[in-house]
Amino acid sequence: MASVTASPFSLRDFLKSFMLVELFKGMALTGRYALARKVTIEYPEEKTPRSPRFRGLHALRRYENGEERCIACKLCEAICPAVAITIESAERDDGSRRTTRYDIDLTKCIFCGFCEESCPVDSIVETDILEYHGEKRGDLYFTKEMLLAVGDKYEPEIAAARAADAPYR
Ligand code: SF4
Ligand code: SF4
Repeated sequence: MASVTASPFSLRDFLKSFMLVELFKGMALTGRYALARKVTIEYPEEKTPRSPRFRGLHALRRYENGEERCIACKLCEAICPAVAITIESAERDDGSRRTTRYDIDLTKCIFCGFCEESCPVDSIVETDILEYHGEKRGDLYFTKEMLLAVGDKYEPEIAAARAADAPYR
């Protein structure tokens, strides 16, 4: 049968407890941090800086004349470790090759950035957008039109991030 032994009486502990020593120590610590420089931010009104290499929501880019950059080489599809990219392509009347389908299943994507690294024409990129979500199955399945729309909307930010990172690539 287990026996319970009472802890011996400690006058020191009793006095510390009686004088509220622990309470005052806690209040002193609180006071010290109340006056210290703030290291937290009020998200989402305030945001921390993000690296130009941040790997967020994908986008497909166009050239300045509106032409799609993607040449349907399928390197991104081949390298994607999550098999999240699906591409179909066809030849245009002018002989150039373009995608007829470019889908990314973001529920599979692990945001490794390999697709972006493999692209010879800087077409598929990962933006610094992280505030997006899906509410039902299929919402995070991004089609070519959706990816191009992200690219069109955020092209200045995408181009600025690439320019900032260019000296290190
Ligand atoms: S970031 Fe990685 S996992 Fe996601 S689509 Fe690109 S290659 Fe695939
Ligand atoms: S996005 Fe880039 S890597 Fe992928 S198929 Fe198009 S050109 Fe090739």
